[in-house]
Amino acid sequence: MQNSRRDVVVVGGGIVGFSIAYRLANEGVTVTVIERDSVGNNASGYALGLLNPTNETGVTEGLNHHSFKMYKELLEVVQEESGVDVQILKLPHIELALEQSEVIKLKSEVSRINEFDEFNANWLETEEVLRLEPRVSSDIFGGTLVEHVIMVDSYNLTLATAQAAEHRGVEVVLGEVKGINYHKGNAVGVTLKDEEIACDSVVLALGPWSVAASSWIDINIPIVPQKGEIVRVEGLEPQLNLHLHGNAFGSSCSVVQKKDNAIWLAATVEDGTGFDVNPSIEAMEVLSRRGVRMIPALESHQMVLHTACMRPVSSDGEPILGKVPGKDRVFLATGTGGKGVLMGPVIGKAISDLVIQGQTDLPISNLGLERFGRSIS
Ligand SMILES: Cc1cc2nc3c(=O)[nH]c(=O)nc-3n(C[C@H](O)[C@H](O)[C@H](O)COP(=O)(O)OP(=O)(O)OC[C@H]3O[C@@H](n4cnc5c(N)ncnc54)[C@H](O)[C@@H]3O)c2cc1C
Repeated sequence: MQNSRRDVVVVGGGIVGFSIAYRLANEGVTVTVIERDSVGNNASGYALGLLNPTNETGVTEGLNHHSFKMYKELLEVVQEESGVDVQILKLPHIELALEQSEVIKLKSEVSRINEFDEFNANWLETEEVLRLEPRVSSDIFGGTLVEHVIMVDSYNLTLATAQAAEHRGVEVVLGEVKGINYHKGNAVGVTLKDEEIACDSVVLALGPWSVAASSWIDINIPIVPQKGEIVRVEGLEPQLNLHLHGNAFGSSCSVVQKKDNAIWLAATVEDGTGFDVNPSIEAMEVLSRRGVRMIPALESHQMVLHTACMRPVSSDGEPILGKVPGKDRVFLATGTGGKGVLMGPVIGKAISDLVIQGQTDLPISNLGLERFGRSIS
């Protein structure tokens, strides 16, 4: 390991950490990313990989759209710089009405989504959905077609971002950070098991493990892991050329045939299971039922892979982005829940702006850690 002082140490090598490192390196900043596991071995590597800012209208809606626009250029750039194929799929996306009661809400989404230049939405009656894809269940009530949504392989994207960052001089160190070193209140480095790495700024991007950094900054970081499982089953022949999404049996589910040729059934949402990432039989059963509800032919398809990982979820459900209050040169980026892959580029830019200029034009001022109060629990 090299021991020369770095401008910035990023703790955590998921999509969030590497998006920040990549952006900083583009601005000429020297960066070390410290990852204790391997690149993309957690949620960033096992996510569905859907880049769809149209499905949310919350406080990060503007950031999500901004990030999507950034990806339209960035995906090609990181592929070229890394040589890693991120497996871009541009499929029509249909929000299916599986119950009559969903029709009014889904129809009303059409005009909202059409306000965004990058997307095009239309209401489809059941016959129109079946004309596009006859294997969809006929027991539906139409659906909202959204064009120009993007799907990637999230592992390949994390790897590509990491390798593109390395191309730009980012150093990746395998190790576990145990704390931040301060001098007169300024962060001056991080401590690993057997050594210290000196730096001028520290960015914390520990994903679901963020709470462990609370004692490093003397403020509670209210993040918990939320388990999510995905089942992949044998692909359809001919290929399914739509991404279907619907609310089946009490929860939402995606059905999509990705470039690995498998049909991905995604995903469960389970709170209160701690750091358990063992795939469960219950999740397999519920995801299979949801998939078959949308495409009955999947009934006979064998499972090829079943994965589980954890979303980092804050106590108010929104990301935590910004400078750590009361600590100089320490920044936090976590709590991205189910949209951290989508948000990578915009978080990269926002945190890089803060590190380099002390401010950003991006609307993150309401997403700081200070909104939760300052106590350590
Ligand atoms: C089933 C599922 C499906 C999803 N689908 C999508 C999707 O389609 N689209 C989308 O946008 N988002 C999706 N998400 C959400 C997305 O995966 C996450 O929001 C995102 O990956 C979080 O990235 P991260 O870098 O913060 O965390 P992680 O990927 O968890 O990375 C954090 C890293 O920090 C490391 N670390 C922790 N502590 C230390 C330490 N002390 N020292 C060194 N390293 C440390 C960990 O080893 C880990 O690798 C999905 C999530 C799940 C669970």
